[in-house]
Amino acid sequence: MPNLPIYLDNHATTRVDPRVLEAMLPHFTLTYGNAASVAHRFGWEAAEAVDRGREQVARLIGAEAREIILTSGGTESNNLAIKGVLPGLKSRGNHVVTTAIEHKSVLDPLKRLAREGWELTMVPPAPDGLVSAESIAAALTERTVLVSVMAANNEVGTLNPIAAIGRLCRSRGILFHTDAIQAVGKVPLDVNDDSIDLLSLSAHKIYGPKGAGALYVRRRDPPVRLVPLFDGGGHERGLRSGTVAVPLVVGLGEAATLAVREHAEESARILELRERLHAAISGRVPVLRLNGHPTLRLPGNLNLSFAGVDGEALMMAMRDVAVSSGSACTSANPEPSHVLRAMGVDEPMARASLRFGLGRFTTAEEIEFAADAVARAVTRLRASDAP
Ligand SMILES: *Cc1c(COP(=O)(O)O)cnc(C)c1O
Repeated sequence: MPNLPIYLDNHATTRVDPRVLEAMLPHFTLTYGNAASVAHRFGWEAAEAVDRGREQVARLIGAEAREIILTSGGTESNNLAIKGVLPGLKSRGNHVVTTAIEHKSVLDPLKRLAREGWELTMVPPAPDGLVSAESIAAALTERTVLVSVMAANNEVGTLNPIAAIGRLCRSRGILFHTDAIQAVGKVPLDVNDDSIDLLSLSAHKIYGPKGAGALYVRRRDPPVRLVPLFDGGGHERGLRSGTVAVPLVVGLGEAATLAVREHAEESARILELRERLHAAISGRVPVLRLNGHPTLRLPGNLNLSFAGVDGEALMMAMRDVAVSSGSACTSANPEPSHVLRAMGVDEPMARASLRFGLGRFTTAEEIEFAADAVARAVTRLRASDAP
């Protein structure tokens, strides 16, 4: 019997890896200096730790350390990318292309800018959740200055063709931002191979601490210029004022290095568990729909709709298994998932969906227990709804 409850919500956040925590701890009580203090050893040691963290993040995505801006997380990185880059592009055009399946931290800043005069095109995905380079190409105009497409979707796990979209944007002289928060550390990404100009990542989605993230900003071919969201002490080359959170950056860096070292083996193991979970549930529950692409998806993602069952009721009926219905970030409001709706899933089927997020600490024993709990809860709910 596994320890309960079982955590299968790794797209919402992940447990901090014990090795990450261990690397962070000395920076709370020993090397606790301010990395901006240049006059003494406490400051130098903190600055060294930050430099190392920045280096580790850069290596994860094939960037240079000086192209990494440290932030408070994915939401800030997405906001800084979008609100930071657009003012400087205004003279060249007023059109931005994104997709209908982005995270709110991309969609909401863009919608705000659209109210302020920017023209916004939201490209819908195919029914399998993928956004093709062709569909992005069809949305571009002479006035397009920025394209923002997520690398991996946080609800249905689909992996978009980032390299093809990057190539397209580069050939048209349009800047390309990707929210890679779910993708980094799980699938290979390289800012040069994939022609990425701006890339957002977050520590707590890769077994690091909450409250730390980074924005990659390309320095040349082409150089990307940003205006900061915060003014102040001029930290992070003036792009992100505010004392750098040294322990969190150390944690982000360590999480990045572990991902570089272990992601291939880890992804294979998680994928096998995901397939096992899918097979075990579909063997016992009829009328099941897989949301998202069958293979072009994150190894740890399984998104299923159980016809005739309400996802919220299903979650409540299996309290020993922590999953999400719809997106973790929109669970507070009762709207059905904007991602599933954009994929053409009808409202009852969208409401009948559950998202399973497997991760580094998921075990085979937990998967067996979870499959059994899901199958029993669905059967029970369907029986109680029967006339
Ligand atoms: C979690 C997430 C974010 C937000 O990141 P935070 O670090 O929690 O602010 C943005 N985009 C995607 C795809 C995410 O999964």
